[in-house]
Amino acid sequence: MFAFVLPVFLLAMIIETLVMRRRGFPGYDMPDALTSANLGGLSLIAGTFARVITFGLLILAQKEFEVALWPTDIAWYSLALLWALALILHDFSYYWVHRFAHEINVLWASHSIHHSSEHFNLSTALRQSSTGGLLSWIVFAPMAILGVPPIMMATVALLDSLYQYWVHTEQIKRLGWMEKVFVTPSNHRVHHSQNDYCIDKNYGGIFIIWDRMFGTFADEREDEKLIYGIRKPVRSYNPIDGNLHLYRDLFRQTAQTSGWRRKIQLWFAPPGGWSDELVEPLDKAGFDRYGRHISSAMLRYIIVQSVLMSIMLGHWLFVQADLSTPIRLGYAAAILVTGISIGSMLQGSVWSLRFEVIRLMAFMIAVAGAGFAGFGSATATVSMVAVMAGLMFCLGWILRAMRSETTTEPALEPAE
Ligand SMILES: [Zn+2]
Ligand SMILES: [Zn+2]
Repeated sequence: MFAFVLPVFLLAMIIETLVMRRRGFPGYDMPDALTSANLGGLSLIAGTFARVITFGLLILAQKEFEVALWPTDIAWYSLALLWALALILHDFSYYWVHRFAHEINVLWASHSIHHSSEHFNLSTALRQSSTGGLLSWIVFAPMAILGVPPIMMATVALLDSLYQYWVHTEQIKRLGWMEKVFVTPSNHRVHHSQNDYCIDKNYGGIFIIWDRMFGTFADEREDEKLIYGIRKPVRSYNPIDGNLHLYRDLFRQTAQTSGWRRKIQLWFAPPGGWSDELVEPLDKAGFDRYGRHISSAMLRYIIVQSVLMSIMLGHWLFVQADLSTPIRLGYAAAILVTGISIGSMLQGSVWSLRFEVIRLMAFMIAVAGAGFAGFGSATATVSMVAVMAGLMFCLGWILRAMRSETTTEPALEPAE
């Protein structure tokens, strides 16, 4: 699946960039786009582990309660109707899970990462949370209880998330009647904006009708420039900061709150507070879009590491089910460390280049170890030698970069 979807997504991003350039826009902000890809990759790994538990629980519930599953050996037109019904049921559940993710602090702490980019293009769609998988499945339990077969539940969930890729763009304007029924780039731009009229609006996945039915719809306004992002900005490219910064805030607020009742309430309160006070008006003139200058030499290195990380990720997704638990976890941890290293280099943290050197050396030791274990097989030896040569090349490259780069603590410069 990954091997098929990734090239399509990449091609769409290339086309979008070409259209942007043609229309006089500057193209992608590379650190931002690479951060989105990094966060998306890590979320795929976290999701794979979470699904074993959550999807497993739904299937277990169906077995335990002896739920009669929808029939699948029926005429094609009846089957098509059932598939459509499953998709509508899933999208309806998605509306609610997405709405809760914006309106309950502990869920927002996880979902906010999808909204943390202050740019809006196809790469933004890749930016997904690594921490949300364990809670959201409860909303899909009614589908399991209604007897939707597991294969249908999994397929419509995949279709719903794939659909949402194309709506992350500024290059498609308004789409006439489609705006009334479907989630479109226009109404999803509103969802990603922090302008006052956009807060907590347009939660739909495929259909926007749920927002129209439940009073959360807002139409894009021509006369107001959209400002993307969240009110408590991350201002970091590090995936750990991205995923955890609102949890950190929650823990801090909990420590400062007195009384257990109020401490617990805090986690379930809306991010804007319990009372119906209006959201603070956005200071549009004072908005300072996060960005940081990175030398083109360093950016080239980071892009190469990002490509290598997606190859590792694709390989992990392909083989992980057949690996022993320690190897499976170790390989996933190696990808996580790569993601952290990429984020730190984008961030320009003082320790980032040293961390990258240590990462490459640790990978070399791990590959040598795995190579010894795989001796006897010619393919294992050849691939070990090739990977080792690649790692040595990267090590030489980063050591040269260390000599020429002067890294500083996040020296922030406006991206404009
Ligand atoms: Zn959202
Ligand atoms: Zn989105």
